[in-house]
Amino acid sequence: MELLKQRILRDGIVKEGNILKVDSFLNHQMDIELLQAIGQEFRRLFPDPAINKILTIEASGIGIAAIAAQYFPGSKVVFAKKTQSKNLDGTLYTAPVTSFTRGTTFDVQVSTKFLGPDDHVLVLDDFLAKGQALQGLMKIVAQSGAKLAGCGIVIEKGFQEGGRALREAGVNLHSLAVIDSIDGGRITFRDED
Ligand code: 5GP
Repeated sequence: MELLKQRILRDGIVKEGNILKVDSFLNHQMDIELLQAIGQEFRRLFPDPAINKILTIEASGIGIAAIAAQYFPGSKVVFAKKTQSKNLDGTLYTAPVTSFTRGTTFDVQVSTKFLGPDDHVLVLDDFLAKGQALQGLMKIVAQSGAKLAGCGIVIEKGFQEGGRALREAGVNLHSLAVIDSIDGGRITFRDED
């Protein structure tokens, strides 16, 4: 997605530890016009009319999923929670996830009320690095008995192993920008879908 790549080149900041900071437009301050274009692109890549749930993970995925859902009429957004809360009652689907940015492992949780065998789920997230977050969300979809329609990622760091492993496993995965390298602070992209 050319618009996204240009924005990453203009405003993305490469940090130590293979981290790309995009907080001026994606995951702290959010550029809603860009998010709308991202949502439309996800619709183009995932035309399946059966999609009725968009599953993501708090916090950065929520804005992306909420805007994208406008292009999936009738769909609901469900976000997996990372922390225990008194508001989270009843039975839960849970899966462990190790955070790429923090290095800690935690359980992500979704109430069984909001996903079930009749659902067709598109999983969305901001970044794909080692694939932990997506694997956790896919485990939750599997526990619920819902059908996984696909996984959409805004920025995939193609030099980390997550995307390759998921594609080899046959997951319908599309990333809007795939970064080949951020060596020396210089960002280069791979051709994407
Ligand atoms: P994974 O689970 O695929 O290793 O990492 C994906 C998760 O880690 C995403 O949910 C994202 O929040 C975070 N993440 C991974 N790499 C980056 C990065 O380079 N920049 C930012 N801002 N977040 C990242």
